[in-house]
Order: sequence, then structure tokens, then C-alpha cells
Amino acid sequence: MEKLKNYINGQWVDSRSEQFLNVVNPASQEVLAQVPSGNALDVADAAQAAHEGFQEWKNTPVSKRVQYLFKLKTLLEDNLDDIAKTIVLESGKTFLEAKAEMVRAIENVENACGMPAMMQGEFSEDIAKGIDEYMIRQPLGVCACIAPFNFPGMITFWFLPYALACGNSYIIKPSEKVPLTMTKIVGLMDQLDLPKGVLGLVQGAREVVDAILEHPVVKGISFVGSSNVAKYVYSKGAAHGKRVQAQGGAKNPVVVLPDADIDMTTQIVIDSVYGCAGQRCLAASTIITVGDHKDITESLVESAKTRKTGFGLDSEVQMGPVITAESKNRVNNLLDKGIKEGGRVIVDGRNPNIPGFENGNFIAPTIIEDIPLDGELAATEIFGPVLSLVHINTIEEAIRFINSGRYGNMACVFTSSGLNARKFRHEAEAGNIGINIGVAAPVAQFPFSGWKDSFYGDLHGQGKHAVEFFTQTKVVIERWLKEWNRKF
Ligand code: NAD
Repeated sequence: MEKLKNYINGQWVDSRSEQFLNVVNPASQEVLAQVPSGNALDVADAAQAAHEGFQEWKNTPVSKRVQYLFKLKTLLEDNLDDIAKTIVLESGKTFLEAKAEMVRAIENVENACGMPAMMQGEFSEDIAKGIDEYMIRQPLGVCACIAPFNFPGMITFWFLPYALACGNSYIIKPSEKVPLTMTKIVGLMDQLDLPKGVLGLVQGAREVVDAILEHPVVKGISFVGSSNVAKYVYSKGAAHGKRVQAQGGAKNPVVVLPDADIDMTTQIVIDSVYGCAGQRCLAASTIITVGDHKDITESLVESAKTRKTGFGLDSEVQMGPVITAESKNRVNNLLDKGIKEGGRVIVDGRNPNIPGFENGNFIAPTIIEDIPLDGELAATEIFGPVLSLVHINTIEEAIRFINSGRYGNMACVFTSSGLNARKFRHEAEAGNIGINIGVAAPVAQFPFSGWKDSFYGDLHGQGKHAVEFFTQTKVVIERWLKEWNRKF
């Protein structure tokens, strides 16, 4: 059985921890590899190497630093199918979903290639007689990413290309549930011949996170995961003087107004709810119909029933399993709560039969109708293929419900009225708004926003926010002696 290693100082090395966790294929329960649970010594080694690598990297011109990213783009593209296959095996998603995730990762590499212009400073001449003032951007130092399981390849790339292009060295801590994808990608990045230490990979779980949060040379931390851990990482990281951006969980509402196009809405909403088996931080979760709901309900039910669930490498399959058996139990328990609260299951995907994959963590598309808006199911992140359908009377009521929630990752509206769409985007409290869009995922030029308990911090990942996050500004006020001699 393969035992995964850390990548430190340009070399693959054994973890200093002797504890290992199984990496499991969620479709079959086959053990794919073993990942070290990691410890503070691993982090100390990686941080020290990254700190040394930083001294050379920060003095490498930005135009040269992005040359590594151009090569990285080609490497990722040339190995896309291989990476996607690994994503399928360890995360359970379909091959097409895995490829789409890597396309998003590559888009961020492309965007960060514009860093020579993106991190340009500002200059003002003669702010007083003979005195000039300018602002330059300099890298922070050693930065780190702590990633969740649901996008084993993409999420690290909301940060890594920008961090490196800005001149930081970078440590990756993948989710211990899906460490194979980043191990493969770092293996490819080894071919880039970055200065030693500039890139590190530390495998592991909580102990590694705590060590990253405490290590003095780590200056910036990007976290993505569940809200409670995000809040913990944000507060502990900040208490240790680090710059932290921490993206948390979500519970994404979608409002369907009476003037929405039923066919288009159905197709987009169903893709949003069941894509990646509902394990997307931008997965639609609660569908709120306003006014007459007979046609849209029938259409959603019909479409959910035809979605094929199974092993992600089967080309006919549209939806894979959830990540672990515990996850499956959690989703089923939440459904039970929804039923106790008065909800009715109108499409029941619990415990489907998937021939050849009887042990997989499968839940087929499920719809529960009429859950109470003030109940537990309506408020809790499900992170599984369950659509909660609720019917109300006005757009105002829908927006009030959305704004009463704990999360603010995404809110969507389906309508053909510009006026209603405008009201919705203006009033709904979420960082990403979709108007006739089911997964409002910002492209690489835009920040991946999130509000309320979906985000702790200020600057988000991607685009200009990433440049600001991964640099610190230095303002220089300058006078030269010759000017001093000028008459004031
Ligand atoms: P998670 O919070 O369990 O784990 C995320 C990371 O934190 C992992 O690397 C894990 O090793 C580490 N971790 C877990 N528990 C910890 C603890 N107690 N102390 C320190 N570190 C800990 O999240 P997950 O289950 O891997 O991912 C799913 C969650 O991520 C969902 O809530 C989803 O909404 C969220 N997510 C959010 C976004 C976003 O952009 N807002 C994107 C993707 C996923």
C-alpha cells in the first residue's frame, strides 16, 4: 500500500508522524493509499525550507516568476485527464466534473500570469515641492493553504498561483480525505525547477493545521472548509499575528419567481443541486417557489428522477457518491429531521442500488417538500444531493428568509423580470448572486466572495483581492538633496 510523503525543500520526504489514515474511494471503499496524519515537526521543516526559499524567490523579478506559471499551465493541461481520474477515484465526483474543476484551476494560473501588471504600484510626483511619494507591493513571506475535500484540485488554485507570482513561498495542506490529487500536482510542479523550498506540501489533519496557525514564519493563511473550523482558523491565526482569509460553509437558496422559464430553470437548478453530489459550496440547497408552484415542482421531480447515480468513471453516470459513510449518515439523519419537522419526501434517493458498487456512499437525487422555514433542515448545510422545496407567496418573504440565515455564500433568482432581478441582487445578503444562474461561481478575475458565516476575513481568493492578500504595501516618500536646495 502506497504511503504518501511530504514535499519539502524540493524533495519527497517521509512524514515525521508515524500515524497514518486511509485514503478511500467513496464509490467502493477500496483503500487507495495511506496518508500521514502529520505533525508540528513536518510543518516546522516545511516552514523553514519555505522561509529560506523565499529569500531567493522574492528577489526574482515578477516577469520571471510568471514564466514558471506559463509552464505550469501547460503541465496541467497536458496531464488533465490523469489528474481528473485521480480526483474521481478519491472524491467520487464524475470525470466531467473533475475535468471542469481543473479547467477552473488552470484559469487561475492564466490570470495570475498577468501579475507584472496586477501588482504594479502607484506613484505621485511633487506631493510637496521636490517630494515624490509612491507605493510598492512586496510579498508577505511564507503563505499556506488549508483545503477541504470537495475540490481536491481547484481550491488550492484560488490562492497558489497568485501567492507564487507575488513572490511568496507556499505550503499546501490538502484535505486528508483527498490528498492524492495535490500529491500528483506537486509531483508535476517538481518539474518546474522552482528554487528549493518555494513550494511545500505537508500531508495531515488537525495537528498540521494547528502547527501552521502557530508557526512564526507563516505570514498568510488561506482556509476553505466548514464554518466552525473557518472561524477557529481565522481567530487563532489572527491571534498569532497572521493575515487570514477563511471561507466557510453554505446553505444556498434559489428563488423561482412565477415568470421564470420552467425548462431552463429546471435544468439549471437540478445541475446546481445534484452536481458533485451536492458537495459544492455553491450547490443550490433550498428552492423557494413564489406563487403557483405546480409546474415547476413536477418538472423538478421528473428531472431529479432521471439523473443517473453511480461510479464517476462510468461515462453515463451524472452523479457520484458522497465522500464518506459518515457523510451519508449525516445527510440521512438530516432528512429524518426534516421529515419529523413536517417535510414530505417526494423523490426518495436513500440507499439506491448501484450494481457493482454496493458498498459505496451513494444517495440518489432526493427532494423533500414543505419543510418549515424556521426548522433545522432549512437552516443546516446538507452537503449532499438533497433538494428542499418550499413554497411561499412573495419575493419579499423569500428575501426575508434568505437574510435570516446564518450563511451568505450564494443566493440565486430565476425570473424574466429585470425589476425583480434588480431588487433581489440589491437586497439578498450573499457574496455571490446568480440571476438565472445556478452556480454563481466567480471566474478567476473576480473575488470568490462570501458573507456572514460563509467567510471570515476581508480579502477573498482570486483576482485583485488575491494580489492584495498576498502582498503588503510599502509607501515611500522621497526627497533628493538637489531638490532640497531649491527655494521653498
Ligand atoms: P472541514 O472543515 O472538515 O475541513 C477543511 C480543512 O480543515 C481540512 O484540511 C481539514 O484537515 C481541516 N480541519 C478539519 N477539522 C479541523 C479542526 N477541528 N481543526 C483544524 N483543522 C481542521 O471541511 P470539509 O468537510 O473538508 O469540506 C466541506 C466544507 O467546506 C463544507 O462546509 C463546504 O461548504 C465548505 N466549502 C466552502 C467553500 C467556500 O468557498 N466557501 C468551498 C468549498 C468547500
